[in-house]
Amino acid sequence: MALATAMVGENKPDPKRRNKIIRRVMISLGIIGVLAIIAMILVRGTTTARLLGDGILVVHTSSIFFPEGSNSLAIRVGAGVLLVDTQLPNWTSKVVDAVTREFNRPVTMVVNTHWHTDHSGGNSQLGKSAILFAHANVKSLMERPHEAFGLTGPGSHHTYAARSNAGLPDRTYESEENLAILSDGAITAVHYPKAHTDGDTVVYAFGGKVVALGDIVWPGAFPFVDLHNGGSAQGILQAIDDILARTDDSSIFVAGHRQPMSHADLLAYRDMVDATINQVKRQMDEGVDLVSIQSKGLGHQYAEYGSDVVPEATWIEMIYHSAQAD
Ligand SMILES: [Zn+2]
Repeated sequence: MALATAMVGENKPDPKRRNKIIRRVMISLGIIGVLAIIAMILVRGTTTARLLGDGILVVHTSSIFFPEGSNSLAIRVGAGVLLVDTQLPNWTSKVVDAVTREFNRPVTMVVNTHWHTDHSGGNSQLGKSAILFAHANVKSLMERPHEAFGLTGPGSHHTYAARSNAGLPDRTYESEENLAILSDGAITAVHYPKAHTDGDTVVYAFGGKVVALGDIVWPGAFPFVDLHNGGSAQGILQAIDDILARTDDSSIFVAGHRQPMSHADLLAYRDMVDATINQVKRQMDEGVDLVSIQSKGLGHQYAEYGSDVVPEATWIEMIYHSAQAD
């Protein structure tokens, strides 16, 4: 017993040492907390909103991990808001907050311009209170596991699991559908069957005065072709030609990423797409292989269109594979 008492006495904590340990733990927890908040801010990104006109808002979010950022277009419709694209799942609530701040109305309809998760990742969050609308091909793709994005390089393929029912479109269409008739023009969804994907929707608001392009166009950068899911470089060109024909000089175009464009910007972009496709196809007709076309490049006048998402060699590869599939 005496021995036990002596041992207990030896283990009695020194209050000064205990306070020091507590202080160190508190400091460590504080540092971890600050780092967690910084990491959360970096991951969640920053969201900004800009009115393009009465009742129409562009919401842009970007983060250190996705500096290109994503755009949503919010249109006030009656007592609710039609939202084109949800952005990434961890950005959706920020987008909705920006919309609510401006319009003080709930999002009642979501249009997915296509299936990619940076456009439809918030579907399951918004599907509880809003109608989810997309092309029929988007729904059929989301219902099953599928591959993306279809280049041949290492690490270029990803497999996507089937979406839960909560994230699937409630309402689909085939070629063209009016979503609302407003006093200043209709809001119309038009399907482009073979462009960025096989299920691209372009939304024409106010009779085509404001147009949501999805990812058919990447302003200032080569476009992206989801070859695994029905995309085509030539189809992108055909889609842009149709979009130009349906609009005029007063139209504003909001792509899924980067800054809005004017009609003249879109026309110049169309010419870049046309010229670069023709360059690659001409060489293919002469029997030049893909690697040789990539080594030669498209010329310095197109160098500025190379981006981290679609470098020049990738755009050439996308044109090459699209032409082979045509
Ligand atoms: Zn996309």
